[in-house]
Amino acid sequence: MIKYRELLENTKAYKVLDGDIREGRLNHCYMITSEDELALDGICTLFAQRILCKDGGCGKCVSCMKVEDNNHEGVYEPKNLKADGIREFIEKVYITGDNDVKVMIIRRLDQVDVKVQNFLLKSLEEPVDGVVFALGVQRQTAVLDTIKSRSKKLSLAPFSKESLKDYFSKEFRGYSKAVTTEAVDCSLGSLTRCDELLNDEDFAGDMTDVIFMLKGLTSSKVNLKMQRRLDIKGGKLVKYLDIMQLICGVLLKKKTGVAVDGFEKVNALMDTFNVPTLVNFNELIVNAKQKVESYCKEENILDNLFIKLLEVKYLCR
Ligand SMILES: [Zn+2]
Repeated sequence: MIKYRELLENTKAYKVLDGDIREGRLNHCYMITSEDELALDGICTLFAQRILCKDGGCGKCVSCMKVEDNNHEGVYEPKNLKADGIREFIEKVYITGDNDVKVMIIRRLDQVDVKVQNFLLKSLEEPVDGVVFALGVQRQTAVLDTIKSRSKKLSLAPFSKESLKDYFSKEFRGYSKAVTTEAVDCSLGSLTRCDELLNDEDFAGDMTDVIFMLKGLTSSKVNLKMQRRLDIKGGKLVKYLDIMQLICGVLLKKKTGVAVDGFEKVNALMDTFNVPTLVNFNELIVNAKQKVESYCKEENILDNLFIKLLEVKYLCR
């Protein structure tokens, strides 16, 4: 089953494809852009179903099932994103297969080296009848302009909190109400993040701990107490750092007037930090993460971070 199918079918990107098929002007190449990896993956599969299904992409027929199971004779994907994988993939454009229509999917074109992306150009410049490309892209800057200009570009915007709420209103889709509420609120419209949060029952508690800690960042004495609240055993430091960085990012947006759809929880910190403090915090957290990667002792990293956070808060007051 395609995760979040109903949400994806409701996107503008999907509706454009649907309209093109209805009006008999299917394009030879669609480039779908989104930072949301899970959404990107789902929409590529959905595109293939819509193009190949006789029933408008029903999701239930044999053709749709085959697409989902990755064994439809009309769908091609590269075995890897390196030169040999892409070369072999492109050869498939020119062989005559059993199917009238071929859907050529590269779910993450931005992960293909630009030199290798050149292999695609010929088939995009001289489209072959009955061949449709669906190219997923996370980072647009990593894609050749010549490919962009030959594709119909569709972008997937983050999902609104309202649409996610609606989606989960169906008995919370098997998750608990508390977990879905938290995931929807903190997903910022990304299905990838929402999915991560749904499968992380500790997230809400960890987030509360971090907010409490940041709120209590006042003097070195209190600081030490707060620091002890964070239990970094079992590799949890990185997770705390991720949450801290997320909170700083959201606070920065909220404080500079950027609309944020959700994250009510961090409002408790709105008056605790000013913008320069948050900018500096973010840098300190990034540094701490780098230290984790270079295997510094985790307790020391946390000690150091707390001292610096307090220092920054004092200096930027
Ligand atoms: Zn179908």
